[in-house]
Amino acid sequence: MIFLLRFPKNLRFSEKQESRCSFLRKRGIHQVGLWVCECRCGASVTSFGNSRLESDTWNLSNILCPCRGPSSPIAKALCSWKDYYEWRCIPLQSPVSLLLHWPLTVYHSIQLAGLGSLTSEISKLCIHYLGPEKELLQLAVFGELRALFPGVFVQIELIGPAVPHHRDGDKIDLHSYAHCIEQDCDCRYKNENTSCSIGHTSSAVTLQLHRGYYHERFLDISKDSHPHLVIAPNAGIAAYASWLPTIELIKEINVPAVFSDYCEEACNLAACCINAVTNQPPRLPIQLNPFRQPMVVEDSLLHLPCYSNCFLFAM
Ligand SMILES: [Zn+2]
Ligand SMILES: [Zn+2]
Ligand SMILES: [Zn+2]
Repeated sequence: MIFLLRFPKNLRFSEKQESRCSFLRKRGIHQVGLWVCECRCGASVTSFGNSRLESDTWNLSNILCPCRGPSSPIAKALCSWKDYYEWRCIPLQSPVSLLLHWPLTVYHSIQLAGLGSLTSEISKLCIHYLGPEKELLQLAVFGELRALFPGVFVQIELIGPAVPHHRDGDKIDLHSYAHCIEQDCDCRYKNENTSCSIGHTSSAVTLQLHRGYYHERFLDISKDSHPHLVIAPNAGIAAYASWLPTIELIKEINVPAVFSDYCEEACNLAACCINAVTNQPPRLPIQLNPFRQPMVVEDSLLHLPCYSNCFLFAM
C-alpha cells in the first residue's frame, strides 16, 4: 500500500502484529497516567469528565521524555519527528510522539499558516482549538508548547461538546512540563519557579475549556481572545452537520483555520463541504502531517490505515 510507504519506518510504531495494549504494556505505560485512553481498555473507562483520570506524568524515565526545558533553543523550524527528537535529545524509540502529536500539530499548523515569524514578534499567541476529546485527559502535554514557542504566552481556548458541564470555564495554567517518573528529577521543582516570572522572556501556556459548539460560544470567548489561528484536530467535518455553522463563522471572521483528519479521504470530503460554504479553494491543500500520531488507529471502521492528525489542510 503506497500510503504506508510514505511513513518513515523508524518512527512508525506498532506494525500490524502488535496491538496498542501490548506496545504500551512493554513500556510500562499501559492504562496509566496520560496513556489511559491510548488503547481499547481505556476507551471503556474513559469519560472526559473524570478528573481522576487526569494526569501530568509521562510515567517514563527522564531520558525518554521531555520533562524539562530544551537544552538548546529551536535553531530551525522542525519538519519531522526526527528533528523534534534530536532537538529534545530523546531517543527515537521513545513513545512520547504518541501524545506529543497534539502540541506538535499545533506548532506545525502555526508554521503552515505563515504565523511562524509572527511568534518571534508577539508576546501572546491566541489559538482557538475546536472539538477536543482525548486531549481533555492529556492536557499536560500541551506544556510542550512552552519549548516550541519560547518567550511567547500561549493562550488556547478549547471548545467542544465533549467538554463536560462541570469543566466549562476551567482555566489550566501549565507552568511546567509533564513530569517524568523519577522522584529526584529537576522537573519536580525547577520548572515551577523559572516559568512563573511573567514579564521576562519566560513562556507560559494557559488553557481554558468551553463546553458547546464554536459558533455558539464564539462571541463569549472572543471578548478576551481574538484568535491568530483556529485549529480543529481530527475534525470529521463531513460526518457532523454541526460543523456547517462553525465553518460559516470561520469564513466570516476570516482567521486562518487548520483542519486535520484520520485519513486523506476524510479530508477530501471535508474540503468539499467547506468549499460548498466558502466557494473558495482551501488556503492550503490537503497534505500529510509530519507530526501525525505514528501508530495506527485500531478501531477504525475503514479498511484504510488511519492515524490521528494524519492529514491536514487549511481554509
Ligand atoms: Zn489496553
Ligand atoms: Zn523529570
Ligand atoms: Zn506548578
